[in-house]
Amino acid sequence: MKSFEFANPQSETEALELMNDHPEQTAVLAGGTDLISLMQADIIRPERVVDIKNITSMHDVAEVDNGLMVGALTTLEEVLDNSKIAEYASVAQAADAVHAIQIQSSGTIAGDLCHLPNCWYYRNGYGMLGLENGTSLPETGDNRYHAIFGNSGPAKFVTASRFAPALIAWGAKVRIIGPGPDEAEMLPLEYFYTTPRTERQGTTVLKPGQLVSHIWLPKTAGTVSGNYDVLQTEGLDWPLASASATLTISGGRVSDARIVLGHVAPTPWVSHDAATSLLGKTISEATAQAAGDAAVSRATPLSDNGYKVQLARTAVKRAILRSAGLLEGGL
Ligand SMILES: Cc1cc2nc3c(=O)[nH]c(=O)nc-3n(C[C@H](O)[C@H](O)[C@H](O)COP(=O)(O)OP(=O)(O)OC[C@H]3O[C@@H](n4cnc5c(N)ncnc54)[C@H](O)[C@@H]3O)c2cc1C
Repeated sequence: MKSFEFANPQSETEALELMNDHPEQTAVLAGGTDLISLMQADIIRPERVVDIKNITSMHDVAEVDNGLMVGALTTLEEVLDNSKIAEYASVAQAADAVHAIQIQSSGTIAGDLCHLPNCWYYRNGYGMLGLENGTSLPETGDNRYHAIFGNSGPAKFVTASRFAPALIAWGAKVRIIGPGPDEAEMLPLEYFYTTPRTERQGTTVLKPGQLVSHIWLPKTAGTVSGNYDVLQTEGLDWPLASASATLTISGGRVSDARIVLGHVAPTPWVSHDAATSLLGKTISEATAQAAGDAAVSRATPLSDNGYKVQLARTAVKRAILRSAGLLEGGL
């Protein structure tokens, strides 16, 4: 690992000052469960690491007038233990699905949202786009775990975030601070992710010198939700496909629906087709199945990952049934 300066700010303002001496060469450290591995592998080589863990304002989970403000440094374990977050069932289910106590106690919610791709070409030094002499390795080589949506450009990896589908389905926003000391904006999480076309572009809208300080969730207001991950094993692993559903049900029929898939595209994948198919319907196995079919109707699998289409279809169907309390014990 290359040597680096280590900074340990105590406040958001101090963190921004430390990040803005050399913004392009600075990395933000939260729980460190992923960043340290990337630095050890020389994939990321920062001049300075800014450890944000001692910024107390970013640890709070607080009720606000119109919802819940969750500090970026809330760990997965704290997500699971928090009674207010428990009301957002799909978010708690996403944390519960990470089957490692060590990761749950160290990994943070914003670290998960900003997690870089697990794509093996990226992790083995071929860059985010996996190019070798101008040839796309994910396109010509092994692409079993790659994208089945949003893959027409050079990026074929899938987003790694476990929480993003659930949070986007809830209409969450992220509070982004920096690069200036007084700059802050609230951005819908749906617009936080980007698909890079060049190696210099990132996977989020964050500019050098910016970080996520909080995640805002709207009031639950009777809305129900569910998350479903399709995993290869019951052990430590990322899903092959996942889906989150958030439903408002009035008089037994769906009046509003948001369906978001994870691990199937370079960004979390919002399926308007699936959501629209549910409007005015009661939730049953047949309507959930139809939404799953709608969700994958525009999939564009690569040479080796056609199997993920069925996994995504099933994830959507089961997330919807889980939201309505119809999954457990049934399927
Ligand atoms: C061995 C192992 C097994 C795992 N297993 C699973 C699993 O089974 N399922 C699963 O879903 N996940 C799994 N994970 C992933 C784990 O959940 C994430 O690594 C963790 O949530 C990341 O949080 P962190 O705080 O440790 O992030 P860090 O490693 O500190 O940071 C991750 C990235 O986010 C950036 N970042 C962090 N915080 C901020 C912020 N506030 N603003 C802007 N950028 C930020 C960092 O610069 C870095 O690029 C595993 C990880 C490991 C190491």
